[in-house]
Amino acid sequence: MATTKARFAQDDIAAAVPTDQGRAPTQAVPAAAALPNGFSVDLEDGATLLWRMISGEWTEPGAALGRQIDWILETLESAGATGTFFTVGDLARQRPALIRRIVAAGHEIGCHGLFHDSLDELGETAFRADIREARAILSDVAGQTVEGYRAPFFSLRAEMDWAHRVLAEEGFRYDASVLGAGPGLPRRLPGGLWESALTEVRWCGRSWPYGGAWLAALPACAAAPPPSGGTIFYMHPYNVGWNRLKRAGSRSPRALWMRCRHEQVHNLLAPRFRARLADLLGHGRWQPIARLVARAEAR
Ligand SMILES: [Zn+2]
Repeated sequence: MATTKARFAQDDIAAAVPTDQGRAPTQAVPAAAALPNGFSVDLEDGATLLWRMISGEWTEPGAALGRQIDWILETLESAGATGTFFTVGDLARQRPALIRRIVAAGHEIGCHGLFHDSLDELGETAFRADIREARAILSDVAGQTVEGYRAPFFSLRAEMDWAHRVLAEEGFRYDASVLGAGPGLPRRLPGGLWESALTEVRWCGRSWPYGGAWLAALPACAAAPPPSGGTIFYMHPYNVGWNRLKRAGSRSPRALWMRCRHEQVHNLLAPRFRARLADLLGHGRWQPIARLVARAEAR
């Protein structure tokens, strides 16, 4: 779970520290036929983000990103699945053709901040400016109205009403940042914004985010999709492998550990991740989160 000083890959690793704080209320699972599931990608370049944390420099996306996106798009198409790509605004500015390829394949583009900064570091005023600029870039590049938001580093928690208010005021229709307690349709918050909580799974008496590296790291029994549907799954491009970082730069123990985690851990888990994702997409229907929000709204 995100803390006030969120760090890279907390999306995957530290995010799984079990806690009841900031969790969305559980929704009842309908007894009728399975609901569609929501598929999502947090579209950031892992190498860019990690290099910024090591060196302070913001670099262009690495060569692996295109190959990772190719694999994801082909896998989704093979499964007849579509999803939401929550995209970093600056990445869309640097790689507009990549974003348009995703749109052309029938997917939704959501907002994942301008430079992937944590809300804890931005504060309300900077957060508003961040999402306003990122949304303008993404809408322009994608040629579609950007309706959804997912916070970097899971840094938008359920109790942060101010962030939900700002999102609604800036024209967003839904937020998909909060870790939830179970599957179900999105719910409407008091200010009018819809919240589509990320699904958590239970294993060994603890809650784990459904997706990311955990899809490969957890045992198969915990990685299987809930049969009820209404699951919100997330992943990053770097989960599918082929990660490389620049060799130059700091030799500090922290930098070496971060490189090891990005290249070795994610690359090691990648084959199992790819196999489990392909299997996962064969169970139930997988759709963009905006479609689940529309379904909830129509009820
Ligand atoms: Zn992210």
